[in-house]
Amino acid sequence: MKKFFAFSILILAFPLILFSQERARVHNIRYFSSSDYTRVVIDIDRPVTFQEKKLIEPDRVRIYFDIDNAKVFNLPPSIPVSKGYIKEIRVGQFTLKTVRVVLEFAEVVKYRTFTLYSPFRIVVDIYGERKAIPKTPPVSKPEELTIARQLGLGVKKIVIDPGHGGDDPGAIGPGGVLEKNITLDIAIKLKELLEKNADLKVVLTRDKDVFVPLEVRTAIANSERADLFVSIHANSTRNKNISGFEVYTLNFTKDPHAIEIAASENAVSSKTIGELESLIKKILLNTKKEESINLAKFIENNLIKHTKVRSLGVKEAPFYVLIGAEMPSILVEVGFLSNLNDRTRLCSDVFRTNIALGLSEGILNYINSFGKPSM
Ligand SMILES: [Zn+2]
Repeated sequence: MKKFFAFSILILAFPLILFSQERARVHNIRYFSSSDYTRVVIDIDRPVTFQEKKLIEPDRVRIYFDIDNAKVFNLPPSIPVSKGYIKEIRVGQFTLKTVRVVLEFAEVVKYRTFTLYSPFRIVVDIYGERKAIPKTPPVSKPEELTIARQLGLGVKKIVIDPGHGGDDPGAIGPGGVLEKNITLDIAIKLKELLEKNADLKVVLTRDKDVFVPLEVRTAIANSERADLFVSIHANSTRNKNISGFEVYTLNFTKDPHAIEIAASENAVSSKTIGELESLIKKILLNTKKEESINLAKFIENNLIKHTKVRSLGVKEAPFYVLIGAEMPSILVEVGFLSNLNDRTRLCSDVFRTNIALGLSEGILNYINSFGKPSM
């Protein structure tokens, strides 16, 4: 009897032990919203499977996510959303093993879901119909046109993204050279140069030494309705002889070097990069791929011109920070902290100014190319 009692306790306790140890925790839900774009990020403490479904009723639209083998952890049941198309986000324990997250909308929307790793998160991009942008009234005296208006017309806002920051130093070179400091300095210099054109507005994803998650950087560009997105990084690789800069656009790749760089920038393994193939293929159908490559080529040419450093080329790789960006977007690796020459140059203020000049002129030349055949 005693034995049976002990066994019963074990049987009764087993599910509790199992669930408390094995259910993933849905521990945070974040959102970034403007009037016509919202990105929702569901943070879960380990990779999970989930199902999504859209329910349309006469006066309400809901998208819900059923997350398998998970529990709600320290979250309020309802998160009101003040801007954008979502009215409310709700989260609850739908069954013992399923967490349901509901996004409630006032009207039908377009949306796209994908997952990122390390840490695991489900990202939902929701798009509304963009309101027509009012046309700039005609200017009577052509000589009063600013350079940007003469040049660009289409490009008014640029989001510059200095890689890493805060607890995330990025690549670390010998002597404690930190990628996060180099990228921030170049970004600030680039903003100053671009804003000499009165009609160009530049937004930095960070202007000090703070941590900004990768998916937030893209969300800033989309929420700001930026016309261009430029992410600045410095490289590092095992082969200390490799030097030069690289300009990347978003795509899947089989190039082992590009995979290594993307894995490092995404803070994931090379294996995880391989799993991005189907997601990237799906996303590229909707992104400004050709324009991104044009922008990358202009930037490459002008970096060569201003720095006299060799280019390793315009390349493609699946960088998290470029996924979901709605505008032409590139990621530039300005040099290798693992290489002595590159590192010495990147520690020079004059060299970083030349990089900013190359980036600035590349961007302005790209803007100037509108209406002309692509390179
Ligand atoms: Zn980086």
